[in-house]
Amino acid sequence: MSSPFRETSLILECPKCETLNYLDPFTFWNFKGKIKCAGCDAIWAYELVNGTRKAAPAAATAPHDKMPGYAQSKDWKTITDFSKVNKGPQAREDFQGKPIPISKSKRGNPVSGTPLTAADLVGSRPKQFAGK
Ligand SMILES: [Zn+2]
Repeated sequence: MSSPFRETSLILECPKCETLNYLDPFTFWNFKGKIKCAGCDAIWAYELVNGTRKAAPAAATAPHDKMPGYAQSKDWKTITDFSKVNKGPQAREDFQGKPIPISKSKRGNPVSGTPLTAADLVGSRPKQFAGK
């Protein structure tokens, strides 16, 4: 049976084990190099220009340049192990899960970008609604 994914560009069907390797468009849109299949670890030389492949994947040798963003086996089992697929690209690679406190802007002006301390509250009064 022929697969509908054999000729697609951003879904690389492994010619060896038929695993569907999803090449995420953000990092693979323009790509030339070697991709490691998430199913059988075979290495494939592949080239994409503006999200369109130049040729069918060709067998290549290690080391690989990139892993797919996500993969799926022929019986629809997902492969999300980060030793087989790439982690998603982050908007800020240095993000640690919490904003970094700042008290000065890029231009040197003071900004309130830090959590308040008890000392910051000296002289302030509790907020009240007018009229009551
Ligand atoms: Zn494979």
